Amino acid sequence: MKPAAQNPAPADAAERRAVKPVICYPTETLPSPDMPCYLNARSQLSGTETLRIPAREARVFQVPAGSFFRILSVEGPQVGDLNLFNRHNPEEHFYSGKTRALHGTHLSTGDRLWSNFPYLRPLATITHDTLDWYGFDQDGGSVHDVIGTRCDPYTHQLLSGDAYHNCCHSNLYRAFSAATGIEASRVERLVHDVLNVFMCTGFTQDTHQYFMKASPVRPGDYLEFFAEVDLTGVLSACPGGDCGNEHSSDKADCYPLEVQILTPAPGTLEGWQSPTPSNYHHPD
Ligand SMILES: [Zn+2]
Repeated sequence: MKPAAQNPAPADAAERRAVKPVICYPTETLPSPDMPCYLNARSQLSGTETLRIPAREARVFQVPAGSFFRILSVEGPQVGDLNLFNRHNPEEHFYSGKTRALHGTHLSTGDRLWSNFPYLRPLATITHDTLDWYGFDQDGGSVHDVIGTRCDPYTHQLLSGDAYHNCCHSNLYRAFSAATGIEASRVERLVHDVLNVFMCTGFTQDTHQYFMKASPVRPGDYLEFFAEVDLTGVLSACPGGDCGNEHSSDKADCYPLEVQILTPAPGTLEGWQSPTPSNYHHPD
């Protein structure tokens, strides 16, 4: 708990609090994704590859620009921690914080996964979400968040004193290092805050702390993305399982996840162009 305020409220406190909030990043001027184009393309998909991510491990997958990929729940409720990289330049990767600033705390169909500076372009667009019925629950929780980071052994050790080696952070960098040959110490710095796929989270109404509750995901549910650029994805099947109790341990029931790479029929992406990086340049 935070200590009580040490300063008395000023006479005009109510007035100061009553000013209207404004949206930090109004999205009216944000180039909107051409959803009819994506929906047309996704109506004729053929599967090219399926990958299974074992429980408490991570795997790397490649998605060519112009293809789709799905993350599926297959055997039981399971949360996944997703990193995305530009396949040709791992320094360009998913930027959870700016994605949150643009699209809000939880993502669904039509939202995009933006890359870091100095690139700032959509790496992927969400094209289908079988959990879009969930909305926000009575606790203020929702699914697919960009407010958490990724479970990691440093915070776990800080809070518990224990060392746990299969946190998503560790799984992600081990898998990425093994697949790319980039040494683990450099890869660890490239691993970034994730999209928490299927995870149900929010902030408590009393203390405003980050909470999780058991994911509503069930086998057959999936989150589908369109790859705007050539992507390397890394997905960890979180040791927290459905994240209904605890993560960073082997206590939860954990299940594998599946990634499907899907290719649209030729000619169905008429008018789509892979986005270019930001054209902003520093004056110096
Ligand atoms: Zn995790």
